[in-house]
Amino acid sequence: MTRNPELIYVVEDELDVARLIRAALEKFGFRTEVFRTAEAFFHGVRHRVPDLVILDLGLPDMDGMAVLQQLRSKHTCGLLVLTGRGDVYDRVMGLELGADDYVVKPYEPREMIARVRSILRRYPRQPVVPADPTQRVAEFAGWRFETGSNTLVGPDGQQETLSTAEAQLLSVLLAHPNHILTREQLLGGRDVSALDRSIDLRISRLRRRFEENPQHAKLIKTVYGAGYLLAATVTWS
Ligand code: CA
Repeated sequence: MTRNPELIYVVEDELDVARLIRAALEKFGFRTEVFRTAEAFFHGVRHRVPDLVILDLGLPDMDGMAVLQQLRSKHTCGLLVLTGRGDVYDRVMGLELGADDYVVKPYEPREMIARVRSILRRYPRQPVVPADPTQRVAEFAGWRFETGSNTLVGPDGQQETLSTAEAQLLSVLLAHPNHILTREQLLGGRDVSALDRSIDLRISRLRRRFEENPQHAKLIKTVYGAGYLLAATVTWS
């Protein structure tokens, strides 16, 4: 699979600082998007949740702590806070409110990259559908799934064609076997507050395909309070 670089949102109203951060991140192979206001940032997050956010607490349109809390209440992603020298209160509050780490400005680019990498190791990647969906075959637990044609072949050789929605969900599960995936990740990182039930419904349809007992699902397991997990070894060809 082609490695998909991590996506990092930089929220910083000072353009010079944002430019330096972006240059450092891109030099180390990260994809970045810069937002100068909280409003623009939340608009971006609604479109796509990044792997990590670098957040300046001093934004022009919203209190930094409020930005942090709002992000944390809805989304799971890495969060590195930028604070001014001597802002001990900001650092402590930022960590209390759920930031993973902080960097004091003016920062050392290598230190920032090291902290970014360390945070990313704590979060599973946002799921991505396999790079070339036209030619991928996954084999798992006696089953076989062909992504190009949405064909599911059972252990008995019987074939079924999945709906696009089912096939997308299965592709994400197959791309991250034995990892807990949140509903948000299963939906490709979109805000799911309104869609919780639709993902549960799709999961139950998929389980029916695998003839699973929903109370004792062995292949697509429910992890209470967290999400779902595909318990299988997956071989892609
Ligand atoms: Ca600022």
